[in-house]
Order: sequence, then structure tokens, then C-alpha cells
Amino acid sequence: MKPKKFLAFRERLGVLLHSIRFRLVLWFTAILAFVLFVFSAFLFYTQSHNLQEEAIHEMDRRVTGLAEIVQTALRQEAGQISIPNGLLRDTDVFILLSPDGQVLASQGSIPAQEAIQIVSAGLQTTPRTSESPAIYWTSPNSQNYAFIITPVQGQLEINFLMIFGGILDPNALVRRFLLTLVAGSLLTLAIALVGGFWLADRAMRPVKTITQAARTIGETDLSRRLNMKSKDELGELANTFDAMLARLQAAFERQRQFVADASHELRTPLTIVNLETSRATASRRSPQEYQHALSIIHSENDFMTSLVNDLLTLARMDAGQTAIEKTRLDLSDVAVETVERLTPLATRNGVTLEAGNLPETHILGDRQYLLQMLSNLVENAIKYTTGDKKRVCVETGTADETVWVRVSDTGPGIASEHLPHLFDRFYRVDKARTRDAGTEADPRSPNGSGLGLSIVQWIAQVHGGEVRVESTLGVGTTFEVRFKVV
Ligand code: ADP
Repeated sequence: MKPKKFLAFRERLGVLLHSIRFRLVLWFTAILAFVLFVFSAFLFYTQSHNLQEEAIHEMDRRVTGLAEIVQTALRQEAGQISIPNGLLRDTDVFILLSPDGQVLASQGSIPAQEAIQIVSAGLQTTPRTSESPAIYWTSPNSQNYAFIITPVQGQLEINFLMIFGGILDPNALVRRFLLTLVAGSLLTLAIALVGGFWLADRAMRPVKTITQAARTIGETDLSRRLNMKSKDELGELANTFDAMLARLQAAFERQRQFVADASHELRTPLTIVNLETSRATASRRSPQEYQHALSIIHSENDFMTSLVNDLLTLARMDAGQTAIEKTRLDLSDVAVETVERLTPLATRNGVTLEAGNLPETHILGDRQYLLQMLSNLVENAIKYTTGDKKRVCVETGTADETVWVRVSDTGPGIASEHLPHLFDRFYRVDKARTRDAGTEADPRSPNGSGLGLSIVQWIAQVHGGEVRVESTLGVGTTFEVRFKVV
């Protein structure tokens, strides 16, 4: 084999040896081999034992018959013993001993003296009881012989000894059974190995598909999906993978949109600042004109500061870098503090900011974040409320195991088609109007960037709460945040 080909082969072999497929099949085959071995050993032991017992019973029956014939012969004509043809098989051994140990008659495949030696050696090592008179001996050609020694009475009640030997398993059933077991087990193992490998390969094919697909998916191409239809565990894995890709794609999309929106939002005030400074420095201006230009720059600067602060808050929230320290606190206290802090802003905008019904309502929360959440809602209410009787009211209460805080205003209301998008980042009902209104109402107040409500929603969610909004055009808007009672 050429070195290059050999290296490629070695690499492929390495991959195969480390693969789950290979390990799965190896374990499976090893366990199967163990089970087969235990099962075969058990089967072999019981079967060979049964066969042996059966053979000894059969020999016992034959020995009884023989003993009767020998006894009759001994009583009739002592010294002349002949066994009728057909009673002894070629492999049988028959020996008749006189009381003084003389061989009176012998017949069979093993010479009489050799057989006597074997039997007496066997008797010395393993004394026999009358219940188990068999002595086993394995001949050089590995046939199991059993010997049975029986006393036979001749004339004048003289005791002779009859030794009978026979092959336990003349048809080599045990050996054939052992061979069958070994061959069957090996065949089963071979089938299991090949079949197991085929099955494991088939089962792992979707994993290969997933791996290949994952390799082709880049940061910029998150639209690819595996779309595997199978309902098994790998199908579930592929579906989870697809769902993860969808989430990643949405997150990347949001990120891209966020960066684009943030840049867009910053571009407008920067352009305004640029324009104002160019205009102011182009030629000599009156002090009023300089003051006007500076106040516009100041206002845009405030807007950018507020925008950057909001962006920073959102970025920290997304990165999970916000340290929320929850303690048991009274939500009405937070509402009172918000009202107190924002009353000067409301007064400047000609809005009556009221603290409505504020019973004690306890929740687990971070005071600073809850203050920011309520401030955003109240600032919005102040900012967007127009008309003669401008009123904003903050209330708290409890209902159905929940604690709520409401901020309601008598503003222009929000059209229903905007309500589902209100908490989206950078979403503004009317961009132009918002920024103009902010400047008119208070030249120093920051204009809306469309981030306030998404911060409100995030704070509510990390406190296990939810924000609801109800609005009627021309009547007003109510924002309500609900939390669980503690
Ligand atoms: P912004 O910084 O623009 O106020 P928000 O996320 O706080 O951003 O609000 C999103 C939009 O929802 C606002 O631009 C405004 O059009 C609308 N909005 C929020 N609160 C009110 C309210 N109390 N009354 C009317 N419109 C509101």
C-alpha cells in the first residue's frame, strides 16, 4: 500500500475505532458472548448430566439381565461361562472373577487385566456405595467408560464378582451437542456483529447528517434547518437543534436591528448638533441666536445621554450583567417615592401628578429597578399627556393573589394597532410628534427613543410580573404591572 493510502486508511480506522458505532457493537457483542457462554455452559452441564444418568440406568438394566444369566450358568456348569450372542456389544467389557480373584471369563474391547487394574485403582481412589456402583474411566480415544461391579452367587452360595463396562455415550451425543452449541454461539455472535454494525450505522446516520449540516452553518447563514421528520430520539435532537438555530437567528436578527436602530437614533441628534454648530460658526450671530443654538445642542445632548444610558441598561440586561437584589418591600412606598421625585417635572409640564389609593402591598423586588420602572411609566404619562386637564395618577392594590401598580393618564391614548408593538425596542407611535412634543414641552427634557417601555417590561419580567396596557383614543392610557403576592 502506498504511504498516502496507508495514512488515509489508518486515519479512517482510527475514526472507526473511536466511533460510538464501534463501541456500541463491541459492547453489545461482548455482552451477548457472555450471555451465550453462561447459557451454553448451563445447557451443556444439565444435558450431559442427564445423558450420563440415562446411560447408567440403561447399563444397570443390562447388568441385572447379565447377572441373572451368569448366575444361572454358574449354578449349572461351573467353570464354563459363555454369554449368548447379541447380549454384549463390541465396545462392552465383561469379566467374571472367582472369589480368589481368578479371571473365570472375559470378553470385550479392553484386555481383562487392564480392566481389573482400572477398576481396582478406581475403587481405591473413590470408594463406591451400593447405590452408585459405576466407575468412570476415560480411554485414550476419549470415550467415557463406566464400570459396574456386581456380586453373583454360584453353587454353594459362593460369591463371584462380575465386572461390566460400557461406553456411556456410544453415539457421541455429548460431543455433538457441545459442537452444536459452540457452532451456534459463534454463528450467533457473527450475525450479531454484522447485524449490530449495520443497525448502529443506520441509527447513527442522522447524526452524520446533523454534523454535516452543523459544519455548513456559519454565523451569517443561520437560516438552514435540518427538517428531520423522524419521531425518534435523533429526530427530537434535530428538532431541538432547529429550534436552537431559530432562536439564534432571531437573536442575531434582533442584535443587527438593535445596532442599526441605535446608530439611526444617534445620527439624527448628531446631524442637528453639526448643523447648529456650522450655522453658529459660519458668520457672526446675535447673543440670542447663540443661546438658541446652544439650547438646541444641549437638548440633543440630553437626548443622546438618555439614549446611551438606555442602551447601556439594555445591553447589561441582555448580557445578564444586572445585579438584581430582591428584598421584601412595599410597592406603595416605591409609588410614593416616584410621585415625589417626578412632581417637579409634572409641574413644569402643567400636569397634575396624583398619588391615588396606595394600600400596603408587599412584593419581593429590587427597589432601584422598580423605581426606574415606575419612573419610566410616569415620565411617559407626563410626556404624552396633552389637553386642558392634564392628569396622571399612580395607584397600587391587590387582586386574585396579585399585587398591581397602575399609572393612568388623561392623554391622547394609543391606537389599538400600536399596542402589540409598544414594548418593542425603538418602537415609537409617532416619531416626529414625539420628538417635537418633547422639545416644546420642556426644551431640557430628553426626547423619547422608544426604549423606555422595553426596559419597563424587562424589569417587570425579572420580578416575575407582567405589564398590561389599556388605552382609549381621546380618553387616556393606563399601564398596569402585576406581581405575585409574597
Ligand atoms: P419613548 O422613549 O419614545 O417614550 P417608550 O418605549 O417609553 O419610548 O414608549 C414607546 C412609545 O409608546 C412612545 O413613543 C409613545 O408613542 C407611546 N407611549 C408610551 N407611553 C404613552 C402614554 N402614556 N400615552 C401615549 N403614548 C404613550
